[in-house]
Amino acid sequence: MPRARDEVLHARLAAEYGTPLYVYDLDDVAEAKADLFSSLPEGVDLYYALKANPHPDIVRILGEDGPGAPGCGTEISSTGELAAVLAAGLSAAGCLYTGPGKTARELDEAIRLGVRLFSTDSVTDVRRLDSVAARRGVRVETLLRVNAASASATTSIRMTGTPSQFGFDSEDLPGTLAELRADAADSGGLRAVDITGMHFFPLSNTTDEDNLVGEFRNTLAEAAELSRVHELPLRYLDIGGGFSVPYGVPGGRTRYPKLRTELEAALDVEFPHWRDGSPRIAFESGRYLAGGSGTLLATVTNVKVSRGRKFVITDAGINTFGGMSGLGRLLPVAVEPAGPGEPVERASLVGPLCTPGDVLGREIELPELAPGDLLAIPNAGAYGPTASLLMFLGRPAPTEVTVRDGAVVSASRLVHSRSPR
Ligand SMILES: *Cc1c(COP(=O)(O)O)cnc(C)c1O
Repeated sequence: MPRARDEVLHARLAAEYGTPLYVYDLDDVAEAKADLFSSLPEGVDLYYALKANPHPDIVRILGEDGPGAPGCGTEISSTGELAAVLAAGLSAAGCLYTGPGKTARELDEAIRLGVRLFSTDSVTDVRRLDSVAARRGVRVETLLRVNAASASATTSIRMTGTPSQFGFDSEDLPGTLAELRADAADSGGLRAVDITGMHFFPLSNTTDEDNLVGEFRNTLAEAAELSRVHELPLRYLDIGGGFSVPYGVPGGRTRYPKLRTELEAALDVEFPHWRDGSPRIAFESGRYLAGGSGTLLATVTNVKVSRGRKFVITDAGINTFGGMSGLGRLLPVAVEPAGPGEPVERASLVGPLCTPGDVLGREIELPELAPGDLLAIPNAGAYGPTASLLMFLGRPAPTEVTVRDGAVVSASRLVHSRSPR
C-alpha cells in the first residue's frame, strides 16, 4: 500500500480505537507467504512459528490455501499457541510441537486435541512423549532436533554447534539412538513414538542470502550424513529458517532470488528422491510471514528536556513493544513520518512505565514531535504484544486491529484478569 493511504487509514483507526494500537495488514501477510513459498523449492512444507504473532486472523490467512501459495503448517510451543491455532479454525493435525521443556501435562493436552508431530530435544523428552501417547493409546511421530557440531563456513549468527538446551548434540547421536533403540526392543521401551526424521533450526533473521544458502547446504549435508551413518530413518526433514524482515524500522522483506535454485541443487545432491517426498522437506518462519504486516501506532503524551537531553514520552512502552528490550537488547526503532527533507532531532523515545528501562530508542533521530502527535513504528507485526511485558504495571494491552483491502476485519485486545482457583 502507498504510504499516503496508510497514513490516512492509520489516523482514522487511531481516532476510532485509541492508542497504543497495532494495525496488521492481512494482505501483506498473504503476500509474505506467497513471497516465501516462491523462494523455496516447489512442493516443500512451511511452518508458521506462532511465537512471532499468534493473532488468529494472521494464523488463519497463513494456514489457508491461498492464491500462489498453499497453507502453512503451524509450529507451536505451548498449549496456548495450540489454542490459537484452533481458534483460527486450523487443525491440530497440521501442528509441529516444539520446545525443550515439554511437560507430561501439556503433551497430554496436545495429544488429546490432535497433535501428532513433535520435535524432541532429549531422551527424557522422547520417553515422556512416548509414555503420554501410549497412555492415550495413539501413535505419534517425532523429529529429533539436532544441534549440529559443524558450522557452515559462511555463517556468523548461529544458534547451533554451541552448548544449548535445544536439540541432541550431533556427536552424541550414536549413544542417544542406541538408548532409544534399546527402548524399542525391550518391553518397557518406546511403544507409541515413531522417530520419522530430524529437525534443525540453526539460525534466525539472516539478510545475507549467501549466508542462508551456506547454512542450508551445511544442514542438508549434515542430515544426509547422520542419516547414513546412524541408519536414522528420514521420512521428514525440517531444516529451519532464518528469513529476515526489518524489526521496528522501515524497509522491506529480504529477497532471496537465488535460494530456490540453490536449494534444489543441494537437495538433488544429498537426497536424490526428495522430489518424490523422500524425505519430505520442511522450513519454518515466524518474522518473515508476519513482521511486515504490522504497524504500531502510539501517541506522544509529553516531550521534556532533562539536562539538555530530549525525551519523547509515548503511550507505548516496553509493555507494548518490548520483545527485544525484555531480552536486554535495545531496539533501534524508527518512527514515521520522517520523510525526506523533514526536520529531525535527536531524542530518546520512551514509554509511560515507572522504570528507566522503558526505552524504545535511546538518542535516536526523530521527527520534531509534540504532545498529541501520532507516531507509527513500522514492521511491528512480529514479536509485538506477545513478546512484551504485557502485565507490567497493570496497563491495558494494546488494541490489535486487522485490515484487509483497507477495511477492518477485527478489533480485539488481550485481557488479563485474576481468577480464584
Ligand atoms: C523462534 C523460532 C522460529 C521462528 O523464528 P523467526 O526468526 O521468527 O523466523 C522458528 N522455529 C523455531 C524452532 C523457533 O524457535
